[in-house]
Amino acid sequence: MSILVTGGAGYIGAHVVRALGRAGLDSVVVDDLSSGHREFVDPDVPFLDLNVLQGEQLVERLADHSIDAVIHLAAFKYAGVSVERPLHTWSQNVVGTLSLLEAMAQLDVGAIVFSSSAAVYGTPDVPLVTEQTVTSPQSPYGESKLVGEWMIRDQAVASGLRHTSLRYFNVVGSGEPDLYDSSPHNLFPLVIRALTQGQQPKIFGDDYATPDGTCVRDYVHVADLALAHVSAVRRLLEGADVEPVYNLGSGDGVSVREIMDSVAKATGIDFSPQVLGRRRGDPARIVASGELAARDLDWKMRHTLDDMVASAWQARPAG
Ligand code: UDP
Repeated sequence: MSILVTGGAGYIGAHVVRALGRAGLDSVVVDDLSSGHREFVDPDVPFLDLNVLQGEQLVERLADHSIDAVIHLAAFKYAGVSVERPLHTWSQNVVGTLSLLEAMAQLDVGAIVFSSSAAVYGTPDVPLVTEQTVTSPQSPYGESKLVGEWMIRDQAVASGLRHTSLRYFNVVGSGEPDLYDSSPHNLFPLVIRALTQGQQPKIFGDDYATPDGTCVRDYVHVADLALAHVSAVRRLLEGADVEPVYNLGSGDGVSVREIMDSVAKATGIDFSPQVLGRRRGDPARIVASGELAARDLDWKMRHTLDDMVASAWQARPAG
């Protein structure tokens, strides 16, 4: 019995693969290494260098692996860039998920955990997002994740596929010293890169209607997030009740300025962030309740914000 992890060589996927391993579950990784790192996947984990769009090859090469469930993380994940590259985003995320679902049907794999996103909510006008909050994505990326959820839901109606979609909020930190976020667009890696290069980190806007003027987000530790995937896949395989959607949020909002303070504390570097204008498309505040996931997926914050910052700093890549 194995779990297929698409995108298993990425920052989040690699944490998921390690968490599965610790829980006694074997993985097979499919990753085209467009943003992942081969060295993030332990050599004893079967690794297929494929894009999920390569449906025929997926079926052919997975046939011998006795896959029982899929955790589907492979996607193009940059909301801002997706506005400039909508067709690429739709191809990778929507057609890619379609291709994977077709391969799953051919291989008779009956369970999927889908990596979805807070981006499906756009700019929610509520203090605490719940799974009932109206979805209103504001980028091709957010749209593509919502369509992915719908495709999976429809396939479940038709085929009995067991499924759940986990909507991630801001995933940060490091659960393993050799796994780091190499995103060129997110706050943590950008701040870490700036500091390792002796530059000042940047704050995108300090004139928002928030307590300190900088954007407020819901930061969750990647190791906690990985454990929620293990719980979700287990429940699907056991036949337990599972909601179609869970928010993986902490219920707590933290501002960009507060992150900078925590970074200064963790690194001992005395810096003054450079305040720039707002980044296009950034909502002022987005914070979610993780109550439903706490009830069903053993979702809890096992790490503080300072843990998140310190672990990300410790796992930073050389240079
Ligand atoms: N941000 C920032 N400086 C940076 C990168 C990001 O001030 O160098 C801000 C960004 O405007 C947002 C928050 O940090 O308010 C989180 O951004 P990120 O891209 O990590 O996640 P998002 O919430 O946009 O998905």
